[in-house]
Amino acid sequence: MQTPPLPSLSQSSGVLTIDLGALADNWRALARRAAPGECAAVVKADAYGIGIEAAAPALHAAGCRHFFVAQLSEGARVRAALAPGPQAQIYVLNGLQAGADPQADYRAHDLMPVIGSEEELARWAAFATRQPSPPPCAIHIDTGMNRLGVGSLDALVRMLARHGHEALGVKLLMSHFVSSEEPDNPLNAVQIARFDEARALFRGIPAGLANSSGIFLAQRPIFDLIRPGYALYGGNPTPGAPNPMKPVVALDIAIQQTRWIEAGESVGYNQQWTAPRRTRLATLLAGYADGLPRGAGAAQGRAGADVVIAGRRCPLVGRMSMDLCIADVTDLPEDAAHPGASAQLLGATIGVDEFAARSGTIGYHLLTSLGRRYHRRYIG
Ligand SMILES: *Cc1c(COP(=O)(O)O)cnc(C)c1O
Repeated sequence: MQTPPLPSLSQSSGVLTIDLGALADNWRALARRAAPGECAAVVKADAYGIGIEAAAPALHAAGCRHFFVAQLSEGARVRAALAPGPQAQIYVLNGLQAGADPQADYRAHDLMPVIGSEEELARWAAFATRQPSPPPCAIHIDTGMNRLGVGSLDALVRMLARHGHEALGVKLLMSHFVSSEEPDNPLNAVQIARFDEARALFRGIPAGLANSSGIFLAQRPIFDLIRPGYALYGGNPTPGAPNPMKPVVALDIAIQQTRWIEAGESVGYNQQWTAPRRTRLATLLAGYADGLPRGAGAAQGRAGADVVIAGRRCPLVGRMSMDLCIADVTDLPEDAAHPGASAQLLGATIGVDEFAARSGTIGYHLLTSLGRRYHRRYIG
């Protein structure tokens, strides 16, 4: 059984354009901020929706040598995409999965588990100390998330002292910010202090803490390796300030038809939006089954997201359908919106942060939900 191919251009109702040149430029810009430390790339969740098989080689060509995924299966895909085996470290963030075989599931694909608990560390030690040379791993220290990560530094010190960190193959000490996109949140400084305490205990092991927004904190918690994801894909790591990253994703959706309705008529399921004036509507060929947020259309007095048609912003109105959504094009010249013309949902004018915020979600969710019914075009 094979996965079905993505639609061809003429059969698709929308085009997702992914700019791999912008992706590489974003990685290089962050790598400059990391120097003399190194810059990794987080490519979990199919590289935030843009496609592991395209993103990983483009990032590797730009100079990236450290890749983070969430799951084992994603790690194997990155390894295959980089074959025949250029130098690259691939870390599996979710840890040493229960039920996984360290040899068959990690070593065979040259993947490094990010050890996230004392229990995982004990299982890894049982495996690693039986190998002729220590297989590599990373250790995640919990500095405040209470999700993954070894919680007790004392326990970690004891276990590493028992075996020696070389024998366990420990190549990286890492932790993860809770709220780095809020530069004034006092927890950032608390987490940096806790991480410093851990680093002092394990001198000589490279360390990394910062995700996209962490890289831009005033404290500059860069250390040896930064781990951006969102910013690579064009998301704004500095919310509230201008986006320093280049847009990577553009989404253009076809207009299927237009129509006029009278003032007082409602639009879409459950009458969530009522025309305040005589209104011209354009029906667009994408909906929540394509990953568009259900809250993207204006409903019950709440504004929604805009789309760009013929260079002008037009609001989405009414409840998002499974396969369709509706834009108010009353203010466009009549010949600008017509069947076959397209509406840009994401691109240079409206980025993932704006579209997501005005839809009641976050850009991370929008990107990782991008559907499989679009024609995908890779450029750059
Ligand atoms: C997802 C993730 C990242 C990347 O975060 P961004 O905010 O997308 O840059 C880094 N580290 C860990 C542990 C993660 O889970």
